[in-house]
Amino acid sequence: MHYFNYKNGLLQAEQVDLTQLAEQVGTPFYCYSQRTLERHYRVFNEAFRGMDTLICYAMKANSNQAIIKTLADLGAGMDVVSEGELRRAMRAGVPGRRIMFSGVGKTEREMALALKMGIYCFNVESEPELAQLNRVAGELDKKAPVSLRINPDVDARTHAKISTGKADDKFGIPYLDAVRVYKIAADLEHINVTGVDMHIGSQITQMQPFLDAFSLLRELVRDLRAEGHSIAHVDLGGGLGIPYGDENEIPPDPVEYAETIRTAMQDIDCRLVFEPGRMIAGNAGILVTRVLYIKQGENRRFAIVDAGMNDLVRPTLYEAWHDIWPVRERGKEVQRTRMDVVGPVCETGDFFARERLLPPLEAGDLIAVMTAGAYGATQSGTYNSRPLIAEVLVKDDRHALIRPRQTLDELIRLDVVPCWMDSKCE
Ligand SMILES: *Cc1c(COP(=O)(O)O)cnc(C)c1O
Repeated sequence: MHYFNYKNGLLQAEQVDLTQLAEQVGTPFYCYSQRTLERHYRVFNEAFRGMDTLICYAMKANSNQAIIKTLADLGAGMDVVSEGELRRAMRAGVPGRRIMFSGVGKTEREMALALKMGIYCFNVESEPELAQLNRVAGELDKKAPVSLRINPDVDARTHAKISTGKADDKFGIPYLDAVRVYKIAADLEHINVTGVDMHIGSQITQMQPFLDAFSLLRELVRDLRAEGHSIAHVDLGGGLGIPYGDENEIPPDPVEYAETIRTAMQDIDCRLVFEPGRMIAGNAGILVTRVLYIKQGENRRFAIVDAGMNDLVRPTLYEAWHDIWPVRERGKEVQRTRMDVVGPVCETGDFFARERLLPPLEAGDLIAVMTAGAYGATQSGTYNSRPLIAEVLVKDDRHALIRPRQTLDELIRLDVVPCWMDSKCE
């Protein structure tokens, strides 16, 4: 469910005309719908009405200040994985008590900052990390609230690059080690064991891997309580898949997912924490790009557009499917032909769609790469010296530039030519 629809034959973001917006801000650009973001958060939150929950939006999906403030204003917490994300959360006014710190490689400096901010909890992923957190907390004379991230060794049946809950993935503490490591944690002076955590992967489109992981988690909570640990929360992670338009991949509906968890966790007697990213931001954003050329190759037809893999890397990195909508609506009866939609970057992997049935396109046409709100802008870069693109937030009939397009001067002036190459210096 999202608010990108055609009106009088032209694609709108809520009530904002994308053709006009493209004239104003130039292409390519990301466009997000605030109403869509709000709706996703509310629907998920309301599915747990009456239960003690904390929904920590996974900021790595999209960490623009305007996006996180939209969610924070609705009461969302944040799941952060770096000092940069901690500082972004702070700047958007998210209170420490609603911040969860995840990730396998937290530095001492990041731990210290999070402790000073009084965050809700650290998801600790290894014994050495636990020892270091204990030391850092000791130096600050604090107790660090901790849940251990447990790797349940379940197959999330998603793309290999975004599976995180298999024994061979770098994430979490093995399930069979959990009780032993909890004992170590409980004996550390500056660690306060408060919960248990799991996150088994991303873009998960079947319920079964979640159910398998959560039933292991319930057993673990029971075992840990029997050992005398007080478990005040369980963190069920994120990872629910969203429909990208590929008929072979239909994920559970978020409400259905929530209801299933609600039933499974009803009597667990502690707070439920969630870390959804994609489910909140994914289809709240699109990438708008202009066709530069139509090129007929020997065997294939290419639409070459002005956005590239540096702007949206998901197809390249995960073989991800994104729906492509022409901004000017074409009737159902138009003849569709198979085409590759590709960018200008000098890599064969620079594509948005392959052999896709599309209506006729010509140079100058605008197209929208749909469902680009999560892991789009945050994974973008400047390969081929292409500046970071503009981001626009729409609400009703209003729009705002929430990140201006980077200028070439801003991009180039980060480079420093060493003094010894400069004839003017000694
Ligand atoms: C990436 C990540 C998430 C969010 O995953 P989505 O698939 O976007 O919901 C949540 N928790 C952790 C620890 C993550 O690494």
